[in-house]
Amino acid sequence: MISVDEARAKILKDIHPVGTEVVALSSASGRVMTEDARSRRTQPPADMSAMDGFAVRAADLDTIPTTLKIIGEVPAGGAYDGAVKAGEAVRIFTGAPLPPDTDTIVIQEDTDFNDHSVTIKEGAARGTYVRPAGLDFREGDIGLKAPRILSPRDIGLLAAMNRPWVTVRRKPRIALLSTGDELVRPGEPIGPNQIISSNSLLVAALVEAAGGEAIDLGIAKDNASSLREKVQDAKSADMLITLGGASVGDHDLIQPVLGKEGLSVDFWRIAMRPGKPLMFGKFAGIPMLGMPGNPVSSMICSFLFLIPAIDALRGIEPRHPPRQKAWLSHELKENDQREDYMRATVIGEKDGLPVVKLFAKQDSSMLSPLSAADCLIVRSPFAKALGKNDMVDMIPLTQPYPVV
Ligand code: AMP
Ligand code: MG
Repeated sequence: MISVDEARAKILKDIHPVGTEVVALSSASGRVMTEDARSRRTQPPADMSAMDGFAVRAADLDTIPTTLKIIGEVPAGGAYDGAVKAGEAVRIFTGAPLPPDTDTIVIQEDTDFNDHSVTIKEGAARGTYVRPAGLDFREGDIGLKAPRILSPRDIGLLAAMNRPWVTVRRKPRIALLSTGDELVRPGEPIGPNQIISSNSLLVAALVEAAGGEAIDLGIAKDNASSLREKVQDAKSADMLITLGGASVGDHDLIQPVLGKEGLSVDFWRIAMRPGKPLMFGKFAGIPMLGMPGNPVSSMICSFLFLIPAIDALRGIEPRHPPRQKAWLSHELKENDQREDYMRATVIGEKDGLPVVKLFAKQDSSMLSPLSAADCLIVRSPFAKALGKNDMVDMIPLTQPYPVV
């Protein structure tokens, strides 16, 4: 059995970025931009007012208070093109360009005014509340460097730079094939000893959340011809994930059947719990991850191996699950040779770190504790027994706030 780290390295070594496509900015959030984005605009295009008030010549503010003649007004999107002479002011609004010869904005709150004149009660230094042309960026500037995962903020910048289209990595297509005579899809007629296939939807949701496109190949029966037939559709995908049938049982057909269809196995079985029967190889030239069928196993395998694989397909640095320290609220016995990922909840906080409690039942078929878990406690191979209040490593599973 190889270690989790070795497995990750072997998988990532065999995965290369997919091609690119051009998408509208409105669908580019979260996508990986592959070309530097140069601005097609200077922003602001001219010196502009940052406030509602009066555009004046700073030289007219040497003595305060002073009264100036109002010779016109300029709203955002408009212009006042006439000359502004000494002793004159132009009514101006936020986002409007400064009239010629004016250089300073006096905010409305610092004035008394009527239709004809304005009395300025507070002085303002030259340039006050003026946004000079190009303050934000200039035409031709590289506003964003590639590769970059586009955030909502980046979308705003690209829009302001007048780039309605952007070249991004296309979404990696991840084919998901469930296997098992016992499985039916949610909502379908179900026999007495059958169960609902939950895995494929769980993993599909994870694939989409990681920036991939999930392709559901359906459920193959536990026989060679069904498996052979269903797997054909994987050939247009960038990666194949099989769920179930990866173990040593008589009905675990992934290796024996796909082996005859050109599957070459790189590794099978890793020192990890849950997820020991994980398999990695190539099928029809595409990378293939064979995951065990229990929902917790396939979720944790996806978390540890599929998300980084999708990162690699998207041409970005493969992520490591974020780890942090936590306090144990109870004893934990020593670990064996397999790296352990245990479902737990956060029950409090001490000295700035979470206090965690394991679910009593760690059965890898159980979806309710998986859904309720706040974190995974990670235990290294052969980790020593721990006592109450000892420190452990954990991976948080909760996302506190949307990414902007
Ligand atoms: P297997 O890896 O095929 O031996 O499956 C291990 C366990 O996971 C069995 O109890 C299966 O019934 C269950 N299982 C397999 N595939 C799924 C699935 N798609 N959804 C939920 N449970 C599954
Ligand atoms: Mg099975």
